[in-house]
Amino acid sequence: MSPIEVLKEYWGHDGFRPMQEEIIGAALEGKDVLAILPTGGGKSVCFQVPGLMAEGLTIVVTPLIALMKDQVQNLEDRGVRALAIHAGMSRHEVDLALNNAAYGEYKFLYLSPERVGTRLFQSYLDVLNVSYIVVDEAHCISQWGYDFRPDYLKIGSLRERLDVPVIALTATATPEVAEDIMDKLAFKDKLVLRSGFERPNLSYIVRHVEDKNSQIVNICRGVQGSGIVYARNRRKCEELSSMLKSRGISAEFYHAGLGQKSRSERQAAWKEGRIQVMVCTNAFGMGIDKPDVRFVAHYDLPDSPEAYFQEAGRAGRDGKRSYALLLWNGIDERRLSQIESVTFPSLEYIEDVYQKLHAFFEIPYDAGIGRQLRLSLEDFCKAYGFQRAPVYHSLKYLERSGHLTYSEEIDIPTKVRISVDRKSLYDIDLPSQEMASLLEILMRAYTGIFSFVQPIDEEYVAGRMGTTVTQLRQILYSLSLEHVINYVPAAHSDVVFLHHDRLRPGNLDLMPERFAMLQNSFHRRCQAMLEYASQTAECRSHFLLRYFGQAESHDCGTCDICRSRQARTDESLVTREEGACRSDGDTARMLVDFIKQKGGVYSLKEIVAEFDNPAIGIADSYLVVLRELIDNGVVPVYRA
Ligand code: ADP
Ligand code: MG
Repeated sequence: MSPIEVLKEYWGHDGFRPMQEEIIGAALEGKDVLAILPTGGGKSVCFQVPGLMAEGLTIVVTPLIALMKDQVQNLEDRGVRALAIHAGMSRHEVDLALNNAAYGEYKFLYLSPERVGTRLFQSYLDVLNVSYIVVDEAHCISQWGYDFRPDYLKIGSLRERLDVPVIALTATATPEVAEDIMDKLAFKDKLVLRSGFERPNLSYIVRHVEDKNSQIVNICRGVQGSGIVYARNRRKCEELSSMLKSRGISAEFYHAGLGQKSRSERQAAWKEGRIQVMVCTNAFGMGIDKPDVRFVAHYDLPDSPEAYFQEAGRAGRDGKRSYALLLWNGIDERRLSQIESVTFPSLEYIEDVYQKLHAFFEIPYDAGIGRQLRLSLEDFCKAYGFQRAPVYHSLKYLERSGHLTYSEEIDIPTKVRISVDRKSLYDIDLPSQEMASLLEILMRAYTGIFSFVQPIDEEYVAGRMGTTVTQLRQILYSLSLEHVINYVPAAHSDVVFLHHDRLRPGNLDLMPERFAMLQNSFHRRCQAMLEYASQTAECRSHFLLRYFGQAESHDCGTCDICRSRQARTDESLVTREEGACRSDGDTARMLVDFIKQKGGVYSLKEIVAEFDNPAIGIADSYLVVLRELIDNGVVPVYRA
């Protein structure tokens, strides 16, 4: 089968999107390739088609578990065998999965980056018949990128072990980040294939306003269909969502502080249109594939064009008219410069955080390697009078420089160890039959459970027991009261993992040159974002594309800058820049209907009275649309 036949057969798509075919072609020729396609541009197909056509197994490294599960499900639905290995699995389950990958008929193995370095995975490398290494969200490997993840660096060594082509994919890479990605992945020959980042149906609009709330209300009311409002922090999300609700708008908030369950419930409700507007932090978004998002509004100025383009780009994947609204004012400007000093505290400060972190957990010098600390950032800060934000970023930098791993808000699975030995277990008089059968199931499923604390797949065990997870937890708890097991209940918390023993003061290498360089590239991104918002001359789309290395592009004609330019040249006709915010087609139809009603005789004043709705604050200028209709002879000219 040819690539296009595979695409039709397995995915049912009619044809390739821009650059997909070229990327697939390069991969099939065995070249290393870096594919830069916008969000929603169809990156998955670019590695799934060649992966399917190749003989062996394609290893896909991707950062988010939720995404991984989706993709595996998606492939399975199409009859392609795929599996995933992620942090929530026990060693036994991972072993089983790898065994399947090696000896079963699997085509795709999805992995989170931190798994790549594990012994267990490495021990299987020789028997996995690997055809491609795929690195999704590849910008995470670049230190200079805006979303660096240290675990991604482990992929470099995977590449050394396996001499197979690499397919790296990302939606955001400046030219320098692209270079860095290819370096880190040891590309044999550098090859970047990118498709145009134009989003002709997306209107970029920037507003410098003091009263952001009313702008948000306007866009929620004025634009029909689903929307996303991004805000900087959790508190703001909650406030904004209740403000919108109090104005009768269907809204809900979403951030990482919510439990897994309410997160997926809210996401589903929004996806199905039961909630119109999701007010969220940047925790919401990755992997959300909703085609009919009509607007994405940013309540605060993001700190990089990369993040902005990615988030705004979630609007209008279906190709219909959509809006990306960015609000900002002097406060954002000041905040950005503060963020810079908070994100990059001094190296002395970072060292201080390092030492106090150990003190907080009572870890002496020359000890602590391998420990997992369940950290409450709040308690830690309170204990030492620290501010939260600089401590957070200190931990992030300690992670970047390899001293520890700092994972936020992770779901820690329930863990169990049977604390009596196998023989005496049968002599214990347990209060209930349920307890006995649970022990039986645990012993079978988790062989090491007498020696080590084992992570337990609660759903699986509950399924075997024929109980709910809640009931299972009760039984586990009762067993722990009987002193038969050690029971560590599942938790949702920040975790710090120590990579080495506590170093004495002065012995901590914080790589000052790297620190300075990171600070510098952060500064440049903030500046670029400010420039995007404050400049008044360049088409917004043009600005963003230029930033991402696309030298030539047309003015989009629909951003606020293009529109105000048109409005200026049409001074005689267009008296206002702002107008009805519906899609062009709708506006045109409404105009035509209105003029027909009037028998073709109408005045500009009547049009303004009818269409200038103060509740609708942004976007399509109905007067521009009217102008087009007149120019094209669809409607007669208005009376003076
Ligand atoms: P990305 O990873 O680039 O953000 P995805 O791979 O998730 O994008 O694809 C986004 C959407 O586009 C998916 O719904 C996918 O089915 C669809 N898609 C991808 N390629 C094609 C194509 N050639 N024709 C039609 N739809 C496609
Ligand atoms: Mg993707």
